[in-house]
Amino acid sequence: MQRKSKLIDSYDRVVDYMRISVTERCNFRCQYCMPEKPFSWVPKENLLSFEDLFKFVKVAIDEGITKIRITGGEPLLREDLDEFIKMIYDYDDTIDLAMTTNAFLLKGAAQRLYDAGLRRINVSVDSLQSPIAHLIAKKNVLKNVLEGVEEALKIGLKVKINMVPMKGINDNEILDILNYSKKKNMTVRFIEYMENIHANTKIKGMNSEELLHVISSRHIVSDLGFDGHSPSHYYELSDGYKFGIIEPHKDDFCTKCNRIRLTAEGNLIPCLYFDEALSIREAVREGDIDTASAILKEVVRTKPEKNRWGEDDENISTRAFYETGG
Ligand code: SAM
Ligand code: SF4
Repeated sequence: MQRKSKLIDSYDRVVDYMRISVTERCNFRCQYCMPEKPFSWVPKENLLSFEDLFKFVKVAIDEGITKIRITGGEPLLREDLDEFIKMIYDYDDTIDLAMTTNAFLLKGAAQRLYDAGLRRINVSVDSLQSPIAHLIAKKNVLKNVLEGVEEALKIGLKVKINMVPMKGINDNEILDILNYSKKKNMTVRFIEYMENIHANTKIKGMNSEELLHVISSRHIVSDLGFDGHSPSHYYELSDGYKFGIIEPHKDDFCTKCNRIRLTAEGNLIPCLYFDEALSIREAVREGDIDTASAILKEVVRTKPEKNRWGEDDENISTRAFYETGG
């Protein structure tokens, strides 16, 4: 499909990637993401139906979005997710459609998702040791997660693995997760832990230097730099296997940032780091496509130049990653 429109921000970046968090709810309580204690979810009446989300997806595609990632919370908790994916695929089958999931429910859902048009998934695997995976997610999860990954690979979904390495918790599994991913021909990305007020305050993440130190103790590693618009910095082992490290505490990937985020409530977010967002909820519920389109353009126009993770800055958003979708 030849696109007529492009979304371009004030720093001349083309914005063509939208991440949609379809629910903030989750069946895990990952220590780095969610508080363990019960807390209040967004009231159901504030959540957008798939029909309303799809109205906005059509606007976004017409304006220039070419890549969509479904995320959450845990997206597989949302009923009829495959139908939502099919709506998008049927509207434009050239859209690069992907999903990020904890894979707990993936085994039973993978085929339906594939049939609906999904081709790529990222799965969070923070440990290959059941008690550690349990400790991190606050639930006995490993068996289901690994079965979900197997099923996805069997069906033909392209799978990437995400791991958040934490000192004293899973820092001794970096090589194991690298090997596991390599053996199954999946790219692994190590994500530096992003400090946030919802996480366990005792968590200490590992930075890219520490991660590379561990990997270099066993492998010859060469630096490939960035690949396209991804915030992931890529590296290669001497046998050609490529892995990534996502370093949110830096801002060198911001010059190529092409993404915006939509929450399940309809908040459109120009940058994960900042609180600023505009709601498209009323506009889509009223079927006011012109207003929805104007809000999209305004969010793109106000996209900040870069994050400020590396600085000691009080502007950092208090929004949870389970709400924005990471
Ligand atoms: N539930 C799905 C999952 O876990 O893959 C999708 C949502 S989750 C919020 C998306 C990604 O954000 C996951 O890869 C997760 O590891 C990452 N994430 C969540 N909190 C994080 C944090 N504090 N620092 C770094 N990554 C984080
Ligand atoms: Fe749930 Fe994903 Fe957050 Fe873990 S990282 S609590 S699986 S949303």
